[in-house]
Amino acid sequence: MMTLYKLASLALPYRHALWQGGVLLLAENCIGLAIPWMVGKFAGSLLGQPMPGASILVGLLLLILLQSGLRFFNATRLGATAARIATDLRWRLHQHLQGLPLRYFHQHRRGDLLALLTHEAEQLGGFISGTLLNLLPMLVTAIGAVVIMFFIDARLALLVALCVPLFMLIVKIVGRRLRPLAQALQEAYADCYAVLEENLDMLPAVKMFNREQAESLRYRQQLEKLLKLEIRQTTIHSLLEPLLQFTGAAAVLVLLWLAGERMHAASMTATELVSFMLYAALLIRPVSELAGVYGQVQMTRGALARLQQVLDELPEAANQHGKLLDKISGAISFHGVGFTYPGRTPVFDSLDLQIKAGETIAIVGENGSGKTTLMQLLLRLYPVTAGRIELDGHDIAGLDLHFLREQISVVSQHVLLFNGSITANIAFAKNGATAQEIETAARFAHAHEFISGLPQGYDTLIGDQGVRLSGGQRQRLALARALLKRSPILVLDEATAMFDPQGEMTMLHECRHLLANATVILITHRAASLVLADRVLRMHEGKLYPVAVGELALSPMTTSINAVCLGEKQEC
Ligand code: ADP
Repeated sequence: MMTLYKLASLALPYRHALWQGGVLLLAENCIGLAIPWMVGKFAGSLLGQPMPGASILVGLLLLILLQSGLRFFNATRLGATAARIATDLRWRLHQHLQGLPLRYFHQHRRGDLLALLTHEAEQLGGFISGTLLNLLPMLVTAIGAVVIMFFIDARLALLVALCVPLFMLIVKIVGRRLRPLAQALQEAYADCYAVLEENLDMLPAVKMFNREQAESLRYRQQLEKLLKLEIRQTTIHSLLEPLLQFTGAAAVLVLLWLAGERMHAASMTATELVSFMLYAALLIRPVSELAGVYGQVQMTRGALARLQQVLDELPEAANQHGKLLDKISGAISFHGVGFTYPGRTPVFDSLDLQIKAGETIAIVGENGSGKTTLMQLLLRLYPVTAGRIELDGHDIAGLDLHFLREQISVVSQHVLLFNGSITANIAFAKNGATAQEIETAARFAHAHEFISGLPQGYDTLIGDQGVRLSGGQRQRLALARALLKRSPILVLDEATAMFDPQGEMTMLHECRHLLANATVILITHRAASLVLADRVLRMHEGKLYPVAVGELALSPMTTSINAVCLGEKQEC
């Protein structure tokens, strides 16, 4: 029942096309029912029974033409509807995925999601506009053929009706093997997607560690698993077809023999015999397809369950219509913030931090001490598990998520760029940014020089994740993108790690002016970055401690911090 309800909700936007398609399919099947009767009449006239041959021939040809036309129309229209349902589903899923919290993606395989978005979406579309819609017309054909056969010869028709369950039994027995196979195939597809995706992401590492052969073998193993299942599926399908054909042909021959006897006994005319045999043959397709419907419903239920699992995940912006503030000055405070990643020990137990509006603070500390997590909590990429974070005195948990993220620009060490032009990548931060704004941001980020030096300048395509740029150039683009956003709060998470020391110094010096009114959080290992900071804090075991800036070596060539902590007990 639930399955039907979910299917109906997917089909709802296409109800008009499906309704029309259903009616036309019905018409096609009704014509299909009339043809054997007409052929019988035609055959009868050929065998010398009193019937004008030419007119029935024309009528028959017109009917077959109409049926062929309808078949073409239905196939194209319903095929297009299936594709539209799949497209709609993919888009809906993608939209939903965009809103899910990061936590979801950390706990699920991308391969499963890709399989759902591609393969299974197509399967669902095909099921609705193919199998489901065909159900009534197929029933009409099957029942109609049996009823007409009863009118022609009740005893022979009874025999045919008794053969139908045998036919269905064969389809059911063979089909039962197909169902678990379909589930296994689904998983094998997802595994293949996952391995391939991971491999393409890791290609530089694969080369550096000479893992080409091993990776190729890993993919081959997944393909082999898929291949085995595909061959088994093809074998079962190949077995089913001739089995049905044989059973059908045997039934037709026996019928023919019995009907021949009745003709000799003059209780059946040649017209009736031909019509009867054609109706018997007409039954084969709908009966075998109807028998396969149950199996297909089971397979579709699996795909629907996986779809529903994703759609049931709550989007992160549950309070999307939270508070909107007029203007943000950029004061940030953490009050007793606690946070734990699922299945891990707490990163923060009770973190306190006050940053004044317009202040620049630098956070240093060993890897894994929680610096990046702090930034992610501020952006509400994860909800805090205790305490609260305030922006200008307002708990960020109650703010509109879109508004909150508009106020904060982030440049991470791991730069995320897409395969497009430099302009498009910088403009990602601001809808409708002008060429002038993009260039200004690029100049501030010290990206303009290298961009101008490229043959296509700002139109240069940078490749997947910006592979056609150096690490430092990618970081400059990310910085330009963040500066274009002009948010009151800027977080630079190891954003200059790939800059050369001199370039870093110049850029930071110029940024002093640009960032004059902004609240800046610098997460860094680089001493040169600290010249910007009003305060330096050290993150240690989930707590922040002030650091004596004067005791840090700040030469441009210094790339690591020899920070002296003022006191482990004194928190910020
Ligand atoms: P830092 O930025 O100071 O190097 P992070 O904030 O990235 O440190 O990480 C803090 C701790 O949280 C580390 O122990 C790290 O292993 C863990 N961590 C980071 N991201 C995740 C995640 N998505 N799931 C589980 N643990 C995580």
